[in-house]
Amino acid sequence: MVMNIQIKITDAEWEVMRVVWAHGSVTSREIIEILESKMQWKAPTIKTLIGRLVEKGALATSPEGRKFIYTAKVSEQESMDVYTEDILSRVCNKHNGKVIADLVEEVALSKKDIASLMELLQKKSESALEVVPCECVTGQCECHLHHS
Ligand SMILES: [Zn+2]
Repeated sequence: MVMNIQIKITDAEWEVMRVVWAHGSVTSREIIEILESKMQWKAPTIKTLIGRLVEKGALATSPEGRKFIYTAKVSEQESMDVYTEDILSRVCNKHNGKVIADLVEEVALSKKDIASLMELLQKKSESALEVVPCECVTGQCECHLHHS
């Protein structure tokens, strides 16, 4: 299923989504058990987060006996894409390379991850521009200050 609406998931809600993504379908009780110990959140807090995710359209809920079963309506991949776009939309396009380089430097990567990144970069470099154009609003980025 392709969803065009971009649902923004907060850090706290992300914790709930991870449980749902990992399990496929879960009851609120299962979500609560996992997050109570990991996050030291109280059950009502977790229920509020679940409720918000249902409202946002990130979770679907269906009754099963006396319980409710929750399933994800957005995939982990889609949500990560929204998240990374969101991060990169906060900086000037000219800083994209630096942001990504910092990320690569900080995270743990397997040899396989690195090989596919190198392959991707090789492919990208074939169609890369000399300079990435800045698309910032004048006054929100240094580019305009230095070059105007
Ligand atoms: Zn800029």
